[in-house]
Amino acid sequence: MRSLAQNTIFEIQPYVPGRPIEEVKRELGLKSVIKLASNENPYGPCPKALKAICRAAQQVNRYPDGDCYDLRQALAQRLKVSSRQLIFGNGSDEVIVLATRAFVQKGDEVIIAQPSFLIYAIAAKLAAAKIKTVPLKNFYYDLEGMKRCLTAKTKMVFLGNPDNPSGQYLTQDDVQGFMRAVSPRTLVFIDEAYYEYVQAPDYVNSVGLLKKHKNIIVTRTFSKMYGLAGLRIGYGIAHEETIDCLNRVREPFNVNSLAQAAALACLNDPLYYQDLAREIARQRKILYAGIERLGLKYVASCTNFVLIDMGRPAGLVVRALLAKGVIVRDMSPWGLGRFIRVTIGTPLENKRFLNSLKGIL
Ligand SMILES: *Cc1c(COP(=O)(O)O)cnc(C)c1O
Repeated sequence: MRSLAQNTIFEIQPYVPGRPIEEVKRELGLKSVIKLASNENPYGPCPKALKAICRAAQQVNRYPDGDCYDLRQALAQRLKVSSRQLIFGNGSDEVIVLATRAFVQKGDEVIIAQPSFLIYAIAAKLAAAKIKTVPLKNFYYDLEGMKRCLTAKTKMVFLGNPDNPSGQYLTQDDVQGFMRAVSPRTLVFIDEAYYEYVQAPDYVNSVGLLKKHKNIIVTRTFSKMYGLAGLRIGYGIAHEETIDCLNRVREPFNVNSLAQAAALACLNDPLYYQDLAREIARQRKILYAGIERLGLKYVASCTNFVLIDMGRPAGLVVRALLAKGVIVRDMSPWGLGRFIRVTIGTPLENKRFLNSLKGIL
């Protein structure tokens, strides 16, 4: 069967997700397991979203609205863009894949930071692109280095903002300066999966930049702050012509009805999420202090996850934590062999993580 497959797929390493709680319980015979590995919201979505899901569940015999009409109108109003400037995806991951499918052809060049979110490279390889990677400098995007990689063949540049796993963000000046160097024939894909967590006043207003630069695609998600990771819904914001291209490669019912209803309810409860953002920021500080007390270094983050330098092979620490029922991410596959990535959890989860870590060290 391998010889029948499209040959570019063998350049792709299958994505390895954070381990599910139930799987770890089963395998290690543990009763209580916490997951701080996939940057999920540990509290879940707002109660209104849960109600909306129950209501929508009564109609799951019907196909979803392939146009996401209600959600589209609400979001367009919120973002002050035309409703035709939006596309919804089965997670924002799907929008990444739609973009490379619609725009990237064999031999086109795609520029990606290293380390960065792994889906960018998977999607680019699937489109048979030539990938140019640009190492981070002290965990920050080397935008000058990325500019030097731009050629007439560059079809797409991925900017994770804030990026995962670095937790760093690009400013308005950063992105504006970068856009000046980019040809209008190159798409700049700005992934804002952690947008809702960023409180820095100099964080880029990417939707604002779209007015001047038609070659920008911005994505955001309901998986992280909004707490709907299990329902799979994210969206893209771009020029109407870009969205039209993406729609041509989108499956007609790619976003399920429960996800649409829940996402709309989340948008209508901004206060719940403002409180949540404040709580996560507070917990992040407490986590930093705990890490420092253990004599370890971390990379300060504007998101709901933190990179910690263990000063030893991360795989060992990750396995030892797993044995104690704490799932975190080993950053070795990202080329950060001494680092683990930990999601900010509830106060109890964070305490348990720190205590388990202390026991190991
Ligand atoms: C989690 C994440 C996403 C998207 O997740 P979806 O659940 O597919 O919306 C996108 N980019 C980054 C950097 C992420 O960490």
